[in-house]
Amino acid sequence: MKVFEEKKGNIFKLLSEAISEGIIIVNVQQEIVASNGVANVMFGYEENELLGSQLNRLIPKDYRKKHTGHFDSFIEKSDVRQMGHGRDLYGLRKDGTAFPLEAGLNPFEIYENQYVMALVSDITIRKRQEQEIKELNESLELRIQQRTTELRHSISELKEEVAKRKEAENRIKESLRKERELNELKTKFLSLVSHEFKTPLSGILTSATLVGKYTLTEHQEKRDKHLKTIQSKVKYLNNILDDFLSIERIETGKETYKFSLFPLSKVVNEVIYDANMLLKEGQKINYPQNIDDIIVEFDEKILELVLTNLINNAIKYSPGNTAIDVRVDQKKSSLCISIQDEGMGIPAKEQKFIFNRYFRAENALLDQGTGIGLNIAKSHLENLGGTITFTSKENEGSIFKVEIPIK
Ligand code: ADP
Repeated sequence: MKVFEEKKGNIFKLLSEAISEGIIIVNVQQEIVASNGVANVMFGYEENELLGSQLNRLIPKDYRKKHTGHFDSFIEKSDVRQMGHGRDLYGLRKDGTAFPLEAGLNPFEIYENQYVMALVSDITIRKRQEQEIKELNESLELRIQQRTTELRHSISELKEEVAKRKEAENRIKESLRKERELNELKTKFLSLVSHEFKTPLSGILTSATLVGKYTLTEHQEKRDKHLKTIQSKVKYLNNILDDFLSIERIETGKETYKFSLFPLSKVVNEVIYDANMLLKEGQKINYPQNIDDIIVEFDEKILELVLTNLINNAIKYSPGNTAIDVRVDQKKSSLCISIQDEGMGIPAKEQKFIFNRYFRAENALLDQGTGIGLNIAKSHLENLGGTITFTSKENEGSIFKVEIPIK
């Protein structure tokens, strides 16, 4: 030791004071044999004060035991390396305070004695900066998390708002669509009224005028004939108005159905009785057989409206001297009413449009009509759990079938 100090003292001093790190040299007994000025200042000692002290003097109490173990195994391996290996290292100042440090270890041998030179840096400032950065990062992360949560919240609020607006928009669109359709309907109604009402009204006017001219008792038969014409034309106009009112109620969702128990024969008789007034020369309606005992639970007015439309069509679209068959077929859970005619039929290529509102087949255009009867019949029946179907062949005739559920 002495030899080392004496012989190399001056050279060591010269070299070590030029270095910015602290230098501490210990022997295998962990005795400090040399320290430079930077190391002395770092640990708070006077020059030479550390010489001869145990290295432990520079290590905080808590770390001493561990350090001794590390030191022994290090001496055995004897390689140059960084001390600590990922652990935080601390130095102990003379005043008892601890500070973080970094140390590189360099073992060497002189005159068969082993020494270790530690190059020590005080990393208090770096550690503080690291800590500040860490804290900054943590607070940043926290803020990001808070922001993300806030954003998520805003996004979900926005989504809800968008959904609400979409819903409102759809409602407005739907009511606009309904309004547009009703407006169309009203326009259509006006033009239809002008066309469809003109002919029957002028017929009614003619008949009424003629009735007034037949004043004699023996003219009763002629008067009856004209009165019948007036009645049938008024019925016809009334049916058109019923259809229009039905559309309006279906469109505005105001249609309310009224179920009641009634004998099927009552409705069938009424419908056929009224239809008789419209019959052409030689046309006849064949009543359905065996319906006297059938009691139905359905909306009576709707069934009447549907059957009236179908029977009136059968009459309208068939020539004179033909028969119209009304049949009733009672099934397990439904009642099927069919109306068959031997009329003009519906052209095959137009059959798929026949339930469309205002649709009228080409071969029917010479007859009066609005193209709404079948459309509303279908809407009503579907609303009430029933169906309407047909088969038809041009120039041979048609069969329309209505099926309503029975309990
Ligand atoms: P409209 O009879 O007032 O035109 P509908 O909705 O009752 O309206 O009928 C639509 C169309 O279906 C008719 O214009 C006609 O072309 C066709 N059609 C309906 N019933 C018959 C039928 N029994 N025979 C032939 N064509 C029919």
